[in-house]
Order: sequence, then C-alpha cells, then structure tokens
Amino acid sequence: MPTIDHARLTDAIAAIVAAGGSEAAEARTVADNLVGANLAGHDSHGVGMIPAYIENRVTGGLVANAHVSVEVDNGAVVVLDGNSGYGQVVGQEAMDIGIERAREFGAAVIGLRNAHHIGRIGQWGEQCAAAGLVSMHHVNVMGHKAIVAPYRGTDARYVTNPYCATLPGTDNNPPTVLDFATSMVAMGKIRVARNKGEPAPEGALMDSKGQPSRDPNIMYEEPIAGALQPFGAHKGYGLALMNEILASAMTGGLGCRPETKYDPPKIINNMLSIIIDPMKLVSRQFFNSEVDATIAHVKASPAADPAKPVLVPGDPERASRSARTTQGVPVDDETWREITAAGVSVGLTDAELNKIAGLAA
Ligand code: NAD
Repeated sequence: MPTIDHARLTDAIAAIVAAGGSEAAEARTVADNLVGANLAGHDSHGVGMIPAYIENRVTGGLVANAHVSVEVDNGAVVVLDGNSGYGQVVGQEAMDIGIERAREFGAAVIGLRNAHHIGRIGQWGEQCAAAGLVSMHHVNVMGHKAIVAPYRGTDARYVTNPYCATLPGTDNNPPTVLDFATSMVAMGKIRVARNKGEPAPEGALMDSKGQPSRDPNIMYEEPIAGALQPFGAHKGYGLALMNEILASAMTGGLGCRPETKYDPPKIINNMLSIIIDPMKLVSRQFFNSEVDATIAHVKASPAADPAKPVLVPGDPERASRSARTTQGVPVDDETWREITAAGVSVGLTDAELNKIAGLAA
C-alpha cells in the first residue's frame, strides 16, 4: 500500500479538483479538508471521496465555485443554502457566519441545506472550538441511496446521519470532539474494506433478510442487497431519526426518501448547527476548571488493558494526525487507482498525478 506525504497528497487532490473546474482557492480548501480527514484517521471521509465528487461534477450534481446564500436571517437564527457547492467551502462559510452570530448573541442556530457532501463533521466542530465556542451538529444525507436500516427493520431507509458535539480546549486540554456516524460504522469504512479485499467490521452489516453479514460487496449490488445497522440498537436509531428530521425539517432541506432522490445523482448534506458561547453563561475560569476536572476524573479510571488507557473524544484523531503528519498517509492501491481515474476523467494523466504525489510512474 503506498504511503504518501500529506503535502504532496494535498497537491495531487487540489490538481484534480482544479481540473474539475474549481478556482485555485476552492481546490486547495477541498484538498486540505479531505487530506485533513485522512490525517485524523478517518480514511472513510478523506481522499477516497474524490471519485464520487468528480463523478458528480461531471454529471452536474456538484457545482464548482458556489457559495452559501442567506435564505432566512433572524439574527441568532440563520438558514443558508449551500447551492450544491463543495461542502468543504459552504460548510466553512456557514460556520464563519455561525461563529460571528454566536459571539454577537451568545448562541446561534444555523441551518445549512443543500450542501454537497460536507465530509468529516468534526471539522466544523473544530472550527467552532478554535473560536472558543461549544457546538452541536445534526446532519442528514440525501440524494444518496438509503443504506442504513432502522432498528427492527430489514431494509435501508436513510443514510449514516452523523452527529457531532465539540467543546473548546482549555489551558490544560485540547478540544473534545465527539463525531460519529449513527450507523455501526461509516459507509466509507465499508468502501475501505471492499477496496482492501477485507471483511466488513463485525456487526456492521445485515443482509436483505436481516441476518448479520461480513460481505462489503452486498452494499454495492443493484438493487442494494443489505443495509448498515444502526449503532447502539434503539438508541443509535433514535439519534439517527432525530438527525434526519432536525437536519431537514428545520433547515428547509429534505429527508432521504425515494421521491427526494436526485437525477443526476449527488450527495447532499443538510446540517442543523447549534453554536454556544459558554462565556455568556459562566466564567471562563469556571468552564475550564469543570472541563479539566471532569476529563482528569474519567481518565483516572484504571484501564482494563494497560496498553489502552481511557481516552476522551478527539484523542484518537490527534494521535493519528501526529503519526501521519510525519509518516505519511496510507492510501491503498485500489483507492489510488480510483483517484487517478477520476483525475484522468477531467484531463490529467496517471503519470502527472503519480509525479505530484511522489510515487513512482
Ligand atoms: P468512529 O466510529 O471512528 O468514532 C469517532 C468518534 O469516537 C470520535 O469522536 C473519536 O474521537 C471517538 N473515539 C474513538 N475511540 C475513542 C475512545 N477509545 N474513547 C473516546 N472516544 C473515542 O467514527 P465513524 O462513525 O466511523 O465516523 C467517521 C467520520 O465519518 C466522522 O468524522 C463523521 O463525521 C463522518 N461522517 C460523515 C457523513 C456525511 O454525510 N458527511 C456521514 C457519516 C459519517
């Protein structure tokens, strides 16, 4: 499996996005975001998304150089339309507005609808945390075929509807970033297993009869022959359902149903973000000391396996970032083949992309 220096990988991805019609700044933003997901250890939402993005660019579902438009502005409550633009761009613009409003009013509710895939949701929580703000993000996915079954169901009815809650860092702790798909695993992890020829993670999939399956290929059959399971039985399903409704009914976006499927296809995310300035509720000193005391308290629990101490959300991503920044980003052969094929479809060559990425021709 090739390991690619993160800066070179970013250059290669930016070249493909630019060849797909994006201005240089947009291409760089998209590439930084995707490689950032790989650095964080979430290959499911990293550069492996490029083939889907470029396919959607070519068929017209993803619009290059698009920006948010303000649809509703009630001060602390704002609804934005992402206009099918790159989620990496319109997501950042939506959080910029949310941060500005939360600082002004103490809290902001931002509805972002019709954004093309906004990637790793932790990115948006981290943007708010860097501004000293707490945030919660409810996300749904539409335009994509349904891939997750509701608890007690046997077929897919919605997508992997992620949830994110983030706390800003203190003097003693970096930001706490809880960010996950409400399916047992993100769909990208099934793609990664399939590309590596490995079985899907245990408990992640069911076949069309509702029986457990480890075969990632069932998710790629037409019609789809299985479904991802929700995490945490009725609890994960309940959170997924809330994300589905909060991110659609509260933003003017739509839920994932057969009648809301797009032609040409595109992956649309809707997101309801609640952004709070904790300093409008309590003093900085109190907030920081409570966060620090709680993290110290939970981390002091004796580890069941001494090699695996208690962590808090955000720790695994930081560890991965530090390792991959120095060691490079592993990209399996099939994923790199798909990425270069996407580049070729917009006029680049394999040789050019291998050269930019520092790989042998
Ligand atoms: P995951 O199962 O790897 O869980 C990640 C979360 O768990 C992180 O907050 C991490 O810090 C925390 N965590 C992991 N191990 C921990 C430990 N030992 N102790 C404490 N916390 C721990 O994530 P996932 O469900 O595979 O999701 C991966 C990514 O996919 C996320 O970034 C998510 O936003 C993204 N996603 C995006 C979409 C979309 O439509 N845009 C859809 C689904 C998922």
